[in-house]
Amino acid sequence: MLMFSLIGISSSCNQQEVKKDNETTKNPSGYSTGAVLWQQHSAEYEAMCYQAYNIGERRLDELVDTSKFYEKPLAVVMDIDETVLDNSSYNATLIKNALKYSKKTWLEWTAMQSADLVPGALEFIQYARSKNVEVVFISNRMEAELDDTYQNIIDLGVDTISKSNFYLKSSTSSKDERRAKVSDKYDVILLFGDNLGDFNGVFDDTTVIERKKHVKNFRPLFGDKLIILPNPMYGEWEGALYNHDFSTSSDFKDSLRMNALNIFSIED
Ligand SMILES: [Mg+2]
Repeated sequence: MLMFSLIGISSSCNQQEVKKDNETTKNPSGYSTGAVLWQQHSAEYEAMCYQAYNIGERRLDELVDTSKFYEKPLAVVMDIDETVLDNSSYNATLIKNALKYSKKTWLEWTAMQSADLVPGALEFIQYARSKNVEVVFISNRMEAELDDTYQNIIDLGVDTISKSNFYLKSSTSSKDERRAKVSDKYDVILLFGDNLGDFNGVFDDTTVIERKKHVKNFRPLFGDKLIILPNPMYGEWEGALYNHDFSTSSDFKDSLRMNALNIFSIED
């Protein structure tokens, strides 16, 4: 099924397109092998996604009275990648081809419209729609990816959502502005995401320590208004380890990861 042009590993792929990381002999995505295997093969990953969406359905039951008139229509806001769509095949392809993430390969991947569904997402969306709750997507996929993203989602059975409900990225990665626009139109009752920036801008571009401090402050909202999905493969958690600078060499990022490991002393 995968027609990704970078997938033929060495035999059929165009070597000019395979931009290997010159700064290291190591596979620049190799460190994420465990994370990708976990997302693709652990039943625990699926159980966590079901857990998140089960909580979402329960919250809809608690929050939505279908006989009541609401001044503003109700909506749930959902991120797309690793919240509704599972892109682990893209990350697996990077590992197998010893590539690091690039916009070019990412756009090739999204143009294929081949991402799978995150377990439980479709059923949750259908449940929300059955209660007349609008589903709005706020994603940092680029606006240019809208048609392919929309088609990918429609093909997976999410066929009750208008294209105008997709708020993709134009210039800024922070989702605050788009969340404010959606809140002008709707009463947002739940937010779903795999990255804390999907919930609030205080999490944007901040340190590991600050992120954890904010999470503590937000604690009552998790499982209440904010529903988080697992994503071990990438996210702001990783950016925070690199001071949000992905432009440095793979070797340097590797050293930052190694230095970040909390260890205990082994005595002889
Ligand atoms: Mg995401």
